[in-house]
Amino acid sequence: MTKESESLESGHGVQVVTPNDEHRFELDEDSLKELLLRDDIKHLPVVLVSVAGAYRKGKSFLLDFFLRYLDKTYNNGDDNSEWLGAPDEPLKGFTWRGGSERHTTGIHLWSQPFKASLPTGEKVVILVMDTQGTFDSNSTVKDNATVFALSTMLSSVQIYNLSQNIEEDDLQHLQLFMEYGRVAKDKMEGKPFQRLQFLIRDWSFPYDHPYGTVGGEQLLKKRLMVREDLHEELQGVRRDIDRCFEQVTCFLMPHPGLKVSTDPNFNGRLSDIDPEFLKCLSELMPMLLAPENLVLKKIGGETVKARDLLNYFRTYLQVFNS
Ligand code: GDP
Ligand code: MG
Repeated sequence: MTKESESLESGHGVQVVTPNDEHRFELDEDSLKELLLRDDIKHLPVVLVSVAGAYRKGKSFLLDFFLRYLDKTYNNGDDNSEWLGAPDEPLKGFTWRGGSERHTTGIHLWSQPFKASLPTGEKVVILVMDTQGTFDSNSTVKDNATVFALSTMLSSVQIYNLSQNIEEDDLQHLQLFMEYGRVAKDKMEGKPFQRLQFLIRDWSFPYDHPYGTVGGEQLLKKRLMVREDLHEELQGVRRDIDRCFEQVTCFLMPHPGLKVSTDPNFNGRLSDIDPEFLKCLSELMPMLLAPENLVLKKIGGETVKARDLLNYFRTYLQVFNS
């Protein structure tokens, strides 16, 4: 059983949802129970941060930085201005890419939960989710949509990781996912989901919209605005997003540099990553994960505790499998 004193190196991604050959999804109940029913966390409200989007667009790489930030902030109580670590420290041990079965379509949870306190003093548990396979050519559209819908329904923060820009296609994919989500929802009370965070990677127009939150919000406004001259269907997509999420935000990330994108020997060393990228990471991490910015998972208006989450995994999977 994982103790909070354990280092990140001993953690790993646990595949909890796996599609089988008949395009049904299997739940690894034992692993989920081991994670969610731990005595020290089962009674705690859950913050679940998920990253979703197309294959090989740097999701897992980014998640490694999430883990580093969470570890420094919540396990070691460090002055978290130092959380990024030393320049030549590789992103090792806890990468999601290294493992053998990591590229399987499905949903993975980090094996180590992070215990945190909100500014109100309330104790919560933070879980980190990696999703795999969206638009991966090996998976069918339905499998992808199911993975995205499941991860959206189970998370309190869904990070939609997109390359270069928000295209109409990306918004339409989102609507397809939301359709699945709606099918699985029995009663709609208020907005069903909490936070949708668009994350644009390799943004290359900083002169139009600057990197970070400011440019992100500008771009989002432009892309999500419901304009009269838009096709009926596209207006619908925009309204649906607004109806489904309590909060929709956007962040523009610069390209991390050629070492990261092309060097096969790149091991995650900060000194090989573009300083502008690191600067943006230092803005993004607290914006998502600092105590005052944590978003609790709610379903049907009620806060979800770790042990309840197990039941929601079961229920939602049943719906998608039927
Ligand atoms: P995932 O399939 O979305 O989880 O992608 P990975 O995290 O496994 O990364 C895929 C490849 O993209 C790796 O070679 C990374 O080093 C590289 N990469 C990571 N972040 C970025 C980014 O922001 N931009 C670009 N162009 N490449 C990235
Ligand atoms: Mg990945």
